[in-house]
Amino acid sequence: MPEGDTVYRHAAQLREALAGRVLESTDFRVPRYATVDLSGHTVDEVISRGKHLIIRVGDTTIQSHLKMEGLWHTYTSTGQQAPRWRRPAHTARCVLTTAETQAVGFSLGELRVLTREQEDDLLSGLGPDLLGPDWNHDEARRRMLEEPQRSIGVALLDQRNLAGVGNVFRSEICFLARLSPLTPVAEVPDLDRIIELSHRLLTVNKLRPRRATTGDAVSSINYWVYGRAKKTCLRCGTRIQRSELGEEELRERAIEDRSIYVCSHCQPAWIPA
Ligand SMILES: [Zn+2]
Repeated sequence: MPEGDTVYRHAAQLREALAGRVLESTDFRVPRYATVDLSGHTVDEVISRGKHLIIRVGDTTIQSHLKMEGLWHTYTSTGQQAPRWRRPAHTARCVLTTAETQAVGFSLGELRVLTREQEDDLLSGLGPDLLGPDWNHDEARRRMLEEPQRSIGVALLDQRNLAGVGNVFRSEICFLARLSPLTPVAEVPDLDRIIELSHRLLTVNKLRPRRATTGDAVSSINYWVYGRAKKTCLRCGTRIQRSELGEEELRERAIEDRSIYVCSHCQPAWIPA
């Protein structure tokens, strides 16, 4: 599932394909932007901010969010012949073509064409970006503690606290910290460690083609608990449990899947004092 690391990788790939190049044609396959035409304009830069992918073209920003299924592919243009896509054409939402390359966004969860001002408004709602050049641990901590009674499993997903963690990483972070995701933020014994873990896990995975949190410890299995319901905990042998944890309205509404995976032995239930 796409999280901050996936979006970072997509941005790097799109930057390579598009930055500094003139768009020969653009095709937005969503009704609202069907008439937008950015051909003749140069792509200035491509960046990721949390789980948002931002393509800046002059005064315009193409913003996309991968949500559950989205992805971008880049192709080399070969003369007159259109490149053969590796995904069905009917799932394409945005096609950006230069003389040398073509970038296609498939099954994007969100696609918007914004002014730079609208982009600023959108991004100003995000907390510190775990993979951004301006990552700020203390600010993330301060934001998390603004709602001290919220469970850590929910606080980690709220992109206003820190941007980039999704459903996979929150389960893995809580497991590695041996913490029940239901623990209120204020009761987390070492919140700094949780934030450091988040930063480290996303950083080590940002350029890996296949995400893994288990590292060399268990190289054939990518995750300690995520997606492993009813399988045994790699550490203690207890069966992993799947449940749901989320809030109806996290501001960004980026949580379609609220599954959370826990080892009840390694992560003892939080009991109010
Ligand atoms: Zn365990």
